[in-house]
Amino acid sequence: MDDNREHHCIICNQQKSDGQGIRIVSGFICETCEEEMVRTDVKDAKYPFFIHQMKQIFLGENA
Ligand SMILES: [Zn+2]
Repeated sequence: MDDNREHHCIICNQQKSDGQGIRIVSGFICETCEEEMVRTDVKDAKYPFFIHQMKQIFLGENA
């Protein structure tokens, strides 16, 4: 089946065969990244990176 694609994390770019995580519009965020995002403070340097990755999805950049 072709649902592997849906478990390709858009944050860390890793394939998650167990599918643990959250699926959004046209992408997937693995459990690890989801937890990291939740823990990441707005003032953290990583935060803009997460937002950037998320925006790409919500803007429908998916080919
Ligand atoms: Zn991830």
